Amino acid sequence: MTQTMQSPVETDALIIGAGPVGLFQVFELGLLGIHAHVIDALPHAGGQCIELYADKPIYDIPALSVCSGRELVERLLSQAAPFKPDFHLHQTVDSVERQTDQRYRVQTSLGKVFLTKTLFIAAGVGAFLPRTLKFEGLEAFIGTQLHYQTSNLGIAAGKSVVIVGGDDAALEAAIALCHGNAETNEPLAQGLTLIHRRDVFQAQTETIAKFQALRSAGAVQFIAGQITGFGSVNQRLTSVEVTDTSDKPHTVNLDVLLPYLGLSPKLGPISQWGLAMERKQLPVNTATFETSARGIFAVGDINTYPGKKKLIVCGFHEATLAAYGASEIIFPDQKTPLQYTTTSTALHKLLGVASESGF
Ligand SMILES: Cc1cc2nc3c(=O)[nH]c(=O)nc-3n(C[C@H](O)[C@H](O)[C@H](O)COP(=O)(O)OP(=O)(O)OC[C@H]3O[C@@H](n4cnc5c(N)ncnc54)[C@H](O)[C@@H]3O)c2cc1C
Repeated sequence: MTQTMQSPVETDALIIGAGPVGLFQVFELGLLGIHAHVIDALPHAGGQCIELYADKPIYDIPALSVCSGRELVERLLSQAAPFKPDFHLHQTVDSVERQTDQRYRVQTSLGKVFLTKTLFIAAGVGAFLPRTLKFEGLEAFIGTQLHYQTSNLGIAAGKSVVIVGGDDAALEAAIALCHGNAETNEPLAQGLTLIHRRDVFQAQTETIAKFQALRSAGAVQFIAGQITGFGSVNQRLTSVEVTDTSDKPHTVNLDVLLPYLGLSPKLGPISQWGLAMERKQLPVNTATFETSARGIFAVGDINTYPGKKKLIVCGFHEATLAAYGASEIIFPDQKTPLQYTTTSTALHKLLGVASESGF
């Protein structure tokens, strides 16, 4: 069965974006008895905290004097865990359409379809997608011989491989392909060339040292230069053209091309979902953080309102009020009382923790 033939996932709440604010949205919805599905373009949760500053310290999360981006995400995932969110990673939300029954039909790039009563756009500065090589016709090889930012190096086994890039991901891929099979210590790739615009790398010192040792041993060829084109024969990608830093041209033959050019956020199709926008952001009502569309909330860096500050703590507040706003739509016949996690036995039940007697 192909993914487009799967029946839709029906849910009360769907969150676009597993950044810090999307993750806290899961928690706040959970406290109100609402289970959430979460979609993200990245293969992991964490948004900017993981992509842009995983190992750097954050000092302005309440009651946490310091934590790294990675630690914050681990804590948010653990806090949300009692509510068992369903994550749908490595896919972007392409379309959002209102149905006649007032639910939203949301479709992802993998063809997964959701029908949701409420939608939370926690899309930050956009979906983090790989930067691509811009040569007309090259995109035809994506998924067969061209794999951007891949961690699945098995596709390069026994092949002649060209890696493009000079960051940790590029060098780690080169090292892994050289070491290859842990049992036999045979290289995974048959031939390996790494191309980077200059002979300087933006990676951890230890990773650079390992790469340079392999380069000195001749296990990997290196060219400092720019890719200027590609060659193909009978619809097969056969080579890339490179001009090195001394303006000397090279033709590098290959079976597989693995560019690691980093990720960049792309706002993508949000502007086509019929929502009012102001300078690429979604204006919201600050009582509920609802957008111009009933049932669609915007929280975190993607929204705008007078006084907006793009800070994680502000996103946490927004997610709290958005959950209450959604509760009115999901449970129209009941009031949503404010309860304290300290004292409410109902909340303790939801959180799966024992209630202390005496309150
Ligand atoms: C270097 C740096 C340091 C920072 N330090 C601090 C700090 O010390 N304190 C602080 O409070 N803030 C800090 N910030 C800001 C903070 O990181 C942001 O405010 C926060 O990440 C916003 O969270 P978010 O969940 O709204 O969005 P993001 O973290 O941007 O997450 C959004 C997620 O949505 C996904 N997404 C977007 N569109 C789609 C789509 N169509 N389909 C699928 N997925 C999609 C993206 O892939 C991404 O994972 C810092 C930012 C940077 C860049």
